[in-house]
Amino acid sequence: MLFTTDILLPGPTPVPDRVQKAMMAAATDHRGHVFTPVADRVRERLHALFHLDAGGAVAVIPTTGTGGLEAAVQNFFQPGDPVLSVVTGAFGERVSAIAKAMGLAVDELTVPWGEAFDPAAVMSQVNSRRYRGILVTHNETSTGVLNPVEELGQALSAITDKPLYIVDSISGVPSIPLDMAGWGIDVAVAASQKGFMCPPGLGLVAVGSRARQKLEPARPGLYFFALTPYLEGQFPYTPAVSLWYGLDEALTLLEEEGEAARFARHRTLGRMARQFGMAAGFPPKVRRPEWGSPTVTPLTIPAGNPAQIRRQLATYGLQIAGGMGAWHHEAVRIGHVGAVGPSDLFAGLSIFAHVVPHPAPALEAAWSVWHDALGDN
Ligand SMILES: *Cc1c(COP(=O)(O)O)cnc(C)c1O
Repeated sequence: MLFTTDILLPGPTPVPDRVQKAMMAAATDHRGHVFTPVADRVRERLHALFHLDAGGAVAVIPTTGTGGLEAAVQNFFQPGDPVLSVVTGAFGERVSAIAKAMGLAVDELTVPWGEAFDPAAVMSQVNSRRYRGILVTHNETSTGVLNPVEELGQALSAITDKPLYIVDSISGVPSIPLDMAGWGIDVAVAASQKGFMCPPGLGLVAVGSRARQKLEPARPGLYFFALTPYLEGQFPYTPAVSLWYGLDEALTLLEEEGEAARFARHRTLGRMARQFGMAAGFPPKVRRPEWGSPTVTPLTIPAGNPAQIRRQLATYGLQIAGGMGAWHHEAVRIGHVGAVGPSDLFAGLSIFAHVVPHPAPALEAAWSVWHDALGDN
């Protein structure tokens, strides 16, 4: 094929040329003089990017996001420990499943799909039992909901010896603000193939200093994912060297654009996708626009077949994601995370427009959001 297929997926996401080229660097000793400065620099920049406190560190593990979540749950608890899992969609369900698999006593606070959790409701549950940990999803990729993790963090910080606050920000950071020290987050998880613009294969587990003191070194079943050596910058097992080179270049790209511009760009993308869906006759699944995610937008397919629509779009040159779980037969998801600009999203939406009831108003609505955003800058 002469033209490329656009991907508008919430992972894997497009890999910029500069990142692709950086990953072509020759194989090298991961403990040698060529790689060591790269690894040190990546760890330092990740520390800043997650807004960790001085004693915090980021573990870069050869795994996926789910592996990072497993590490986050495995390292801080013993079987039987009570934890509260706040479930707002499929990824919240996954974290619960991980915690149950390791024998924790999991209470779930479940919110209907399409809604954000209410920090006050979470706090009243937190105050009812001495939990050792709270597990939440920052940006719920299955429902396109951005949860108020900052507000919950502020409320939790009022508790003396509060439970460990563990956040799945895999489709959040670095596209959406995340301030671990400022918001009192103890552990946050990310992955290379979303906003970090790299191929899949790295799980990032950022651990604040308070959580580092609570690491459980000897837990049955914990070996590869034991965080201590990773947090100390050692390579207990062979690192994914090529992906580290890619991540190093991706961090340069992120720094070149800057935090404020990156957050604003993703907010614009989220608005473009939601306005497109609304005008197209495929309304966004999120229950309130203010909960709408800047990185992924599930749209309702009212009387159609989402799988068939996705197949059709693929032949036109656009890949989008299907609905997850209960939404499999009623939604599709547009991803707009990482190396995606308004023109990329607009190009994808112009393909999508071929299968919607009202193509012209939909494209005009998306274009208007983009146009207004230019005025804001
Ligand atoms: C993508 C994603 C995951 C899973 O990541 P994998 O790399 O596929 O294991 C978990 N949580 C959220 C919020 C995600 O977006």
